Amino acid sequence: MSILARARPELLRFAGYSSARMEAHGGRVFLNANESPWSGAGDATAQLQRYPEPQPPRLRAQLAACLDVAADSVLVTRGSDEGIDLLTRAFCAAGRDAVVVAPPTFGMYAVAAAVQGVAVVEVALAPDTFAYPFDAVAAACGEPVKLVYVCTPNNPTGTTSARADVLALADTLRDRALVVADEAYVEFADGPSLCGDVRQTPNLVVLRTLSKAHALAGARVGALVAAADVVDLLRRIMAPYPLAAPCIAAAEAALAPTALEATQLRVAAIRAERARVARALAALRGVRAVLPSQANFLAVRLDDPASAYRELLARGIVVRDLARYPGLGDALRMTIGRPEENDALLDVLTAWGRRTASVSGVSRGAAA
Ligand SMILES: *Cc1c(COP(=O)(O)O)cnc(C)c1O
Repeated sequence: MSILARARPELLRFAGYSSARMEAHGGRVFLNANESPWSGAGDATAQLQRYPEPQPPRLRAQLAACLDVAADSVLVTRGSDEGIDLLTRAFCAAGRDAVVVAPPTFGMYAVAAAVQGVAVVEVALAPDTFAYPFDAVAAACGEPVKLVYVCTPNNPTGTTSARADVLALADTLRDRALVVADEAYVEFADGPSLCGDVRQTPNLVVLRTLSKAHALAGARVGALVAAADVVDLLRRIMAPYPLAAPCIAAAEAALAPTALEATQLRVAAIRAERARVARALAALRGVRAVLPSQANFLAVRLDDPASAYRELLARGIVVRDLARYPGLGDALRMTIGRPEENDALLDVLTAWGRRTASVSGVSRGAAA
């Protein structure tokens, strides 16, 4: 049985919009799409008068090569956010179906579900270790559950799940639900990607993005890797021309061999800085714990996170307050920046730690 049997049945025969671009084959003079025959003044490339390729073949091939998967298992998306949205809309019927998320985790899974009007089943990560609750998740997957999100490395904890555990979960849910491995930060992790497992695992979807390691958050380009029939379904419900031509060009440039070498150097620099900043933070007064992270950020537990946040902001440094995430009420998430940016963060928090320690020392003394 194909996992498409779990998609919204009314979409299986739905052809989607047939765009001029998709119907065109060959040709030299293009009078089929009501485009302007002249380029406009703001168009330095003199190509923007034409609609872009719905799934640009060169970029798709580059992504497939980079991820070591077949091109027909790649859907080029406007970032992973669009991949999450498409999966939700294709597989989940409003008022009937459900998705499983493991908080504290990335918020867009629940947002996409809420927009579509489907239930969100929450199975909490393990307290303290934030390990993914594989058995409890499998047990929570009743008939309405169509999508199960495994964010690895997880945002905002930085923890990873073992490949074998994700594959075992997918096997357990084989004909029932898609297991969606969100690998937005996998380039910063020690372990391998699950992309290579998609071919053997028809209900596994891997989300990748150029927004983090590839330094292209502004271009909004990601890749959804899945069985070809899943990719084909999502493509039919996607906007006809989702990717803007300048963004396609930026992504193609980012995946050229020399650019990929530069990306590797940046990733190595972030990993080294992550270790340095984690060590330095752990030694500061006012810091309770630095969660071990496989991503490009650190979740840091503090005695008084609100005051640290305010202090950093007063010095122009913006971090993410994690107070609304379960189990992280005392934590801030700090992205690893350039070395001098990390130094600035450490300087502010060092001074803040000394001050809060002496203040609390005084108040303890006064109370005694
Ligand atoms: C940043 C992030 C994304 C978003 O990716 P885009 O490709 O920019 O949409 C997806 N998943 C997680 C866990 C993230 O932290």
